Amino acid sequence: MGKVNLILLGPPGAGKGTQAKRLVERYPLVHLSSGDMLRAERAAGSELGKSVQSFMDSGKLVPDELVTEVVISRIKRELSAGDKGVLLDGFPRTEQQANDLAKAMEQINEKIDAVIDLQLDSKVIVERMAGRRSCPKCGRVYHLKANPPKNDNMCDDCNVELIQRPDDKEEVVRKRIAVYEEQTAILEDFYRKVGILKVVDAAQDIDSVSESIFKIIDQIIEN
Ligand code: ADP
Ligand code: AMP
Repeated sequence: MGKVNLILLGPPGAGKGTQAKRLVERYPLVHLSSGDMLRAERAAGSELGKSVQSFMDSGKLVPDELVTEVVISRIKRELSAGDKGVLLDGFPRTEQQANDLAKAMEQINEKIDAVIDLQLDSKVIVERMAGRRSCPKCGRVYHLKANPPKNDNMCDDCNVELIQRPDDKEEVVRKRIAVYEEQTAILEDFYRKVGILKVVDAAQDIDSVSESIFKIIDQIIEN
């Protein structure tokens, strides 16, 4: 099957992590979530982890100079390691990150094939985040109503108790939505101009969003 490199764009709660899990089961893709990478640094107690803590907990973006290098070096490593493409989730989030990503991909003779833009109204975002629960071990996400675990509050894969992320508290979610609109939403125009933006209505149920994304990817692979 043809290899593709994709970006999942969209506000917090749009369903990037949820869809990523399904996409890696269907296509040769490695899911790279910058948020998961930063949370792993924090859990490991690294210097980087300590530096990013206050930004993350208050819903702000971590400065480009702390994020870009870590994520891009991981992308390069994954792309040189095998036949899978990358599925970027949460990166890039600023125009500077998008430019640095484009340069890095060019250097290694790779390109982003499509940017899947999951569009969702801010009212729905707040509802989704209130019900989101995450596995502290593997990062898998659930929703109390829309996507509950099989056993009450336990991860289906790890059997570890699920947690609510500290930055999923309502006031932090509102800050994150504002940050998305101020700093990240411009990437829609950025990638529309490049000609690779594919808009998806993220308010549909989880299966319908997946179907919409599968169609987009299948079309790219066929061409
Ligand atoms: P993101 O990675 O974009 O921040 P998530 O994938 O973590 O978003 O989804 C946010 C929350 O909304 C999770 O609790 C998830 O289970 C739930 N969710 C995701 N997609 C949908 C959907 N299409 N309909 C209802 N709930 C959803
Ligand atoms: P996420 O898991 O994608 O919701 O990200 C959680 C938090 O990590 C964000 O609110 C930011 O503080 C930080 N973060 C993740 N990715 C980036 C990025 N590409 N640029 C800046 N900050 C990021």
